[in-house]
Amino acid sequence: MKLYLASGNAHKAAELQSLATAGGLAVEIVSARAAGGMPEVAEDTGTFVGNARKKALALRTKLPADAWALADDSGLCVDALDGAPGVESAYYAGPQGDGAANLAKLVAVMRDVPEAARGAQFVCVLLLRGPDDAEFIFEGKCAGRLQREPRGGAGFGYDPLFVPDGHELSFSELGDAVKNGISHRARAWMRLAEWVKGRER
Ligand code: IMP
Repeated sequence: MKLYLASGNAHKAAELQSLATAGGLAVEIVSARAAGGMPEVAEDTGTFVGNARKKALALRTKLPADAWALADDSGLCVDALDGAPGVESAYYAGPQGDGAANLAKLVAVMRDVPEAARGAQFVCVLLLRGPDDAEFIFEGKCAGRLQREPRGGAGFGYDPLFVPDGHELSFSELGDAVKNGISHRARAWMRLAEWVKGRER
């Protein structure tokens, strides 16, 4: 099954393709570039599902009628901040989308929050849009807590601050091999993979 990825990010396409291949899934992730490029989309719906749907619909206008578009949206929802930065995770510190500045802002905002109130969860939505307005949504979450200072060199975004439940180290310290077994993205992908397998049966 071919899935056209509604993203201009080549790294994302490669990451999803390796998840598919590792899971023995007969899925080919095709980058939006192959369909003439990802159209500009404002991620302004206020929800992960709404943003992912907008991206998938924008790409579908460029695809053959029988093709499937795959879009994703993700972010970090912090309990003490009523779910912020949430859908704004990529632009928390400003429209330039600077990951280091986003992380520094979260460290500062959370400085006086006590240990017991430092819960947070990563959320990932994968959304498929296919022929006849068919839509399937797969959500993955990874709960944990925010430590006070960033630790570790691997990963990206808020990884150095986030300690997943059942661990004492941050996502950055745990590294990709551990993260990819428990992350919000991996969990959403597992659900999508089950759906693909069910379709093939
Ligand atoms: P998007 O899903 O590409 O719109 O990006 C969402 C934003 O959420 C990223 O820019 C990061 O700030 C944050 N984020 C999402 N997933 C992760 C993750 O696995 N680790 C760290 N930060 C993440």
